[in-house]
Amino acid sequence: MNRATFFGRLGLITGIAFSSSTLLMATNTHRTKSNNLFFNKSSNAGFEPVIYKTPWGQKVIYDRYTFSDMKTGEWTEEGLEWAKIETLQKELNNKIDNNEIVFTKGPAKLVDGLWQLVLDGQQNSFLIETETGLILVDPGMESNTEKIVEQINYLGYKQSDVKHILLTHCHVDHAHSANYWQKLGAEIHIHQLGENPIRTGNEITAWYLIDGDEREFPKVEGEISVFHDGDKLNFGDLNISVCHTPGHTPDSCCFYFRKEDKNILIGGDTIFHNGKHGWMGHPYSDYEQYLKSLWKLKRFAVGGKVHNEKDRIMVRNPIAFDFLLPGHTAISMENVTRDIDKGIEIMSYTLQQRRKGIDYQWTEPYTFFAEREVANKPEIKIEYK
Ligand SMILES: [Zn+2]
Repeated sequence: MNRATFFGRLGLITGIAFSSSTLLMATNTHRTKSNNLFFNKSSNAGFEPVIYKTPWGQKVIYDRYTFSDMKTGEWTEEGLEWAKIETLQKELNNKIDNNEIVFTKGPAKLVDGLWQLVLDGQQNSFLIETETGLILVDPGMESNTEKIVEQINYLGYKQSDVKHILLTHCHVDHAHSANYWQKLGAEIHIHQLGENPIRTGNEITAWYLIDGDEREFPKVEGEISVFHDGDKLNFGDLNISVCHTPGHTPDSCCFYFRKEDKNILIGGDTIFHNGKHGWMGHPYSDYEQYLKSLWKLKRFAVGGKVHNEKDRIMVRNPIAFDFLLPGHTAISMENVTRDIDKGIEIMSYTLQQRRKGIDYQWTEPYTFFAEREVANKPEIKIEYK
């Protein structure tokens, strides 16, 4: 396991392995009178996100790990030795722990009625206000629940106002608390291929990656609302389109919806800022399928006909996503097309290495692209799927 694989595995799969350095620097909000009537809008807007710009000018909500990868990329391009970079990384971590570098505090308002809930480690959950109640996307481990409820209450809601749990896939770090929320009355929504894993708590949920008390998947016993590729899920005033994107897991999905004139993509563990990808160490992870899924996102359209680029037919009306809300790490606040393009580059490269018999599994994108800059940009042959 090289250093990137090691950190990637620790970070992505067990966000709980990192100590929390929650940022407590409240900015602009004051709690207003709580109003818990169900259909009422939240009584508190939430925190303004702390938005940074990437070295190429893309607006992004960094988390500490992606920020650290970004800085490592800069130091790599400056030609610093790895030992020096490690020292700088330690200094950076100290600054972050001392709140000298500030990241977004949750609940962070992304647009009206859509919030990022900030949890320990690298996990993200999202909360969406609809006429049919709150949708909570990927509530994660049960140990997150207190933090989630705190943030829901902060907005003037109760936990019982969560009427829907929308899961991007069955993995334990996304779906572990589904059972908890269902008992409170929320409806569970997952792709058809995720139903059996969350009902039986089988190995596909990857419970084996979690240490301690939560090393078991709490089975979901009641009704489960399953969806399929291309479905439109209706939540009153909000329609969510399902794009089935297998590769990381067989049931992985991304979701698309519009809110406040923004095209929003929920990426699960399929697409991350700057083209990072989900961990692929599971027996069922499939790199070829993964690349196909990234192409599917690039060509994703609702109501328009989308053709195959391999046959050199024009792609008509693919959606230009404005926000990328992934299951872990940083959130892109513009130009998600770039993230998807980078993902395709990284996955093409990964496949090519693996076909040569190299056990190449993991990429930290900022560092990866910086290393290629230093090596005079050897071209990556893009593979069409
Ligand atoms: Zn996963």
